Amino acid sequence: MEKLKNYINGQWVDSRGKDSLSVVNPANQDILAKVPQGTAADVAAAAEAAQQGFQEWRATPVSKRVQYLFKLKTILEDNLDDIARTIVLESGKTFIEAKAEMIRAIENVENACGTPAMIQGEFSEDIAKGIDEYMIRQPLGVCACIAPFNFPGMITFWFLPYALACGNSYIIKPSEKVPLTMTKIVGLMEQLDLPKGVLNLVQGGRDVVDALLEHPYIKGISFVGSSAVARHVYAKGAAHGKRVQAQGGAKNPVIILPDADIDMTTQIVIDSVYGCAGQRCLAASTIITVGDHSNITENLVESVKARKTGFGLDQDVQMGPVISADSKSRINSLIEQGLQEGGRLLVDGRNGSVEGYETGNFIMPTIIEDIPLTGQLAETEIFGPVMSLVHINTVDEAIAYINQGRYGNMACVFTSSGLNARKFRHEAEAGNIGINIGVAAPVAQFPFSGWKESFYGDLHGQGKHAIEFFTQTKVVIERWLKEWSRKF
Ligand code: NAD
Repeated sequence: MEKLKNYINGQWVDSRGKDSLSVVNPANQDILAKVPQGTAADVAAAAEAAQQGFQEWRATPVSKRVQYLFKLKTILEDNLDDIARTIVLESGKTFIEAKAEMIRAIENVENACGTPAMIQGEFSEDIAKGIDEYMIRQPLGVCACIAPFNFPGMITFWFLPYALACGNSYIIKPSEKVPLTMTKIVGLMEQLDLPKGVLNLVQGGRDVVDALLEHPYIKGISFVGSSAVARHVYAKGAAHGKRVQAQGGAKNPVIILPDADIDMTTQIVIDSVYGCAGQRCLAASTIITVGDHSNITENLVESVKARKTGFGLDQDVQMGPVISADSKSRINSLIEQGLQEGGRLLVDGRNGSVEGYETGNFIMPTIIEDIPLTGQLAETEIFGPVMSLVHINTVDEAIAYINQGRYGNMACVFTSSGLNARKFRHEAEAGNIGINIGVAAPVAQFPFSGWKESFYGDLHGQGKHAIEFFTQTKVVIERWLKEWSRKF
């Protein structure tokens, strides 16, 4: 059984950690590899290498740094299918979903290739007589990313290409549940021949995270995961003087107004709720109908029943298993809780099984209707293929319900009324808004704008926010007197 290694200072090395976990295929429990539980010593070695690597990298012109990214784009495209297969094996999503995630990753590499323009400074001539002032952007130093399980390839790319283009050196800490994808990608990135220490990867979980948050060489931390850990990372990182951006959990509401295009809305909402088995931070979770709802309810139920669940590499499969047996039992308990709170199952996905994959962590698409809006289930991130369907009388009440929630990752509305759409855009308290869109995932040029308990920090991942996050501004005020000049 392969035991994964760390990548430090341009070499694959054994972890100092004695313990390891199994990396498991969620569709059949096959053990794919062992992932070591790294230690503070691993982090120290990576930080030391990255600190050394930073000196050469920051002195490399930005126009040259992005040449590595142009090559990286080609490498990722050439290996797209192979990377996607690894994502399916360790995360359970479908091949199409896995490829789509890597295409999003590549878009961020492409966008970061524009860093020579995005990193430009500002200049004001004659702020006082003969005195000029300008601002330049310089890299922070060593930066690190701590990633969740649900997008094994994409999420690191919300940060990594920008960090490198801006002249920082980097440490990747993949989720210990899905470490194979980034291990494979870092292996491919060896072809880039980056200066030693510029790119590093440390395997592990909590101990590695805490060591990253404490290490004095590390200046910037990008975290994506659950809100409880995001809060911890933000607080501890800040206490150790680091710049932190920490994206947290979500509970995404979608309003369907009576004037929505029913067929289109059904399709898009179903894809949002059940895509990646509901394990997307932008998965629609609470579907709120306003006014008459009999048609939409019927349509949703029909479409959900027709959805094909199975192993992500098999033909025509639309939804895979959830990540772990623990996750499956947690989601089943939440469904049970919803029932106890007064909800009714319109589609019960708890007891289905997939032929040939009987041991897989499958939960079939589920719809639970009329859960109380003040209940536990309505407030809890399920992170599984479960739709809570609720009915509210007016748009105002629906928006007020959304705005009292803890999270603010995404909120969507389906309507053919521009006026209602505009009202929703203006009033909904979420950082990513969808109007007749079910997964309002910003493309690489835009920040991934979570609000409330979905985000701790100031600058988000992707786009210009990433350039600002990975640079510090330096303002220079200068004066040159005439009498110092030699006459020519
Ligand atoms: P998680 O919080 O359990 O783990 C995320 C990372 O934190 C992992 O690398 C893990 O090793 C580390 N970690 C876990 N517990 C820790 C602890 N106690 N101390 C220090 N580090 C710890 O999240 P997950 O289960 O891997 O991912 C699912 C969550 O991520 C969901 O809540 C989902 O909404 C969220 N998510 C958010 C976004 C976003 O953009 N806001 C995107 C993807 C996922």
